[in-house]
Amino acid sequence: MGFLKKLLGGADRPESKASQSTGNTDPRGVYFYVQCDRCGAPVRLRADKQHDLLDEGGRYVWHKTIVDNRCFRPMPTVVTLNASFEMVAHEITGGHYITREEYETLLAEQQKARD
Ligand SMILES: [Zn+2]
Repeated sequence: MGFLKKLLGGADRPESKASQSTGNTDPRGVYFYVQCDRCGAPVRLRADKQHDLLDEGGRYVWHKTIVDNRCFRPMPTVVTLNASFEMVAHEITGGHYITREEYETLLAEQQKARD
C-alpha cells in the first residue's frame, strides 16, 4: 500500500480543481478581465506571477497582447501591479478593463443570446 500513499500524497501540487471560476484557488495566477471595444467580447486572462510578470522592485509589470475569440483584433496592454499584485495602472489599446462581475454578466448575456 506504500505506493498508493505516495501516489496520493507525494505530488507537489496543492491546487484543487474544485472551483474553476473563482480564481481564488490559484495562488500563482493573477486574473484580468477585458472587453473588446470593437465586438464587445469579454476576455479573461491569467498572468503567472513567476513567469509572466516582470519584477521591477516593489512592483510588477505585465506586457501582453490580448486577442479575443470573436473578432481576433489584438489589444496590446501594459499593466502595473503593486507588491500585493493589485492593479495600480494600466494602458490598453482596442479594449478596456472590466471587473470580474462585469465579465461574468457579459458572458452570461452572450450565452443567453446564443441559445
Ligand atoms: Zn473583438
